[in-house]
Amino acid sequence: MKATDADSESAATPRPAENQQACAARLPVLDASSALLTGCVHCGFCLEVCPTYQLSGDENNSPRGRLRLWRQEAEGRLEPDWWTVRYTQDCVGCLACEPACPAKVPYGEILEEVRHQHHEAGRHLPPLPLRLAAWFAARPRLFSLAAIPLRILRRIGWQPHRLVFAGNPAVLESTASYAQRLMAQHRPTGPRVALLTGCLMEAVFREINFATVRVLIRNNVQVVVPATQGCCGAMHEHLGLPAVQPLRQASRDAFLGAGVDAVVANSSGCGLSTLKSLQGQLPVRDVLDFLGEIGVRANPPRATDARVYVDLPCHLVHGQKLAGIPESVLRATGYHWELAPQARDCCGSGGVYNLQQPESAQQILQKKSQFLNSAAGDPVILATSNHVCMMQWQSAGRTGLVQRPYQVRHVIQLLDSGDL
Ligand code: SF4
Ligand code: SF4
Repeated sequence: MKATDADSESAATPRPAENQQACAARLPVLDASSALLTGCVHCGFCLEVCPTYQLSGDENNSPRGRLRLWRQEAEGRLEPDWWTVRYTQDCVGCLACEPACPAKVPYGEILEEVRHQHHEAGRHLPPLPLRLAAWFAARPRLFSLAAIPLRILRRIGWQPHRLVFAGNPAVLESTASYAQRLMAQHRPTGPRVALLTGCLMEAVFREINFATVRVLIRNNVQVVVPATQGCCGAMHEHLGLPAVQPLRQASRDAFLGAGVDAVVANSSGCGLSTLKSLQGQLPVRDVLDFLGEIGVRANPPRATDARVYVDLPCHLVHGQKLAGIPESVLRATGYHWELAPQARDCCGSGGVYNLQQPESAQQILQKKSQFLNSAAGDPVILATSNHVCMMQWQSAGRTGLVQRPYQVRHVIQLLDSGDL
């Protein structure tokens, strides 16, 4: 564990001015968030909800510990070193610490700033495959083209990576063109929304976007898919890459010019990032929450022994601060369903955390996924509302955490009857 200078008498001793200047040169931007950094009152209420603290028992690997490290660096009381970067990288970014905090410390905002600064200062460079993935993500059309083989593999039932779940995406038709076609056929007259199609979702898992279009139109919602929308920037934010701001600006321009009542997102992480882009200029709604509000059409009860276990993404309940997925929506699927045990706890996906820190991510998932080994139902379906969480749940079978067959689905797919 790293010993911080707050633990010693010398912690209170200010550095000489020249040392502070040297630190400022290494960490140039922390001024902006230093007022935020002073909000923590060290109560420790966040420790019990933090998955990395629960795993490690290391104070530096907790929200309170990280905030202390960042503050001490910002104030020049701690040498910027590798340990602070490591503890920053160890954070899943689940944001469970925010609602637990009585002082309302905006942890997510500070984390984003610190990750960005670590990258800017050359203290952390994401691995090349992730930088390459981020480069593609920022170019959705190219990404979509490059992912054609992967969509074909998924269609023929081959999942070439532990994170790739089963599905049958269209190989060539985009969600934009599909939505346009269905809109022309069915001419819904209700609220007009723009669908956030995403980069990874559209390139690899677009059958979920197609299902979303069908469910919305079936519920008389007009669906627009702005052609100019790109990546929401969530991946770049996780990696601390500077492209996040231009991507958010592009997202803002695409959606504000779409002439819609709201943007709907079927991925809670992308939805949260788009919320940050639009900052109250246009409502950004999770699609399931939106359907709950307008009164979703229910499917007839399914005559099957299937049992659905619903897990709640962190960026839905902690990031977007929604109570969960509306019960009316879950009932409307027609399936027997129940919340998964520890449904509000993190599954370890954390955007790209399961690629950056695979061992910790699997340890976090292990706690949550054990119930699947003895869960009732035939088939057993694990349902959630974020494709990145779906990828993480999928990996539980491939890594042996879950040793019986189960399906991973998006709740919107359970609402979808397929035909329209
Ligand atoms: S975001 Fe999650 S992992 Fe990171 S400090 Fe907060 S609770 Fe812990
Ligand atoms: S709950 Fe908030 S105030 Fe308390 S230690 Fe954690 S971050 Fe600091």
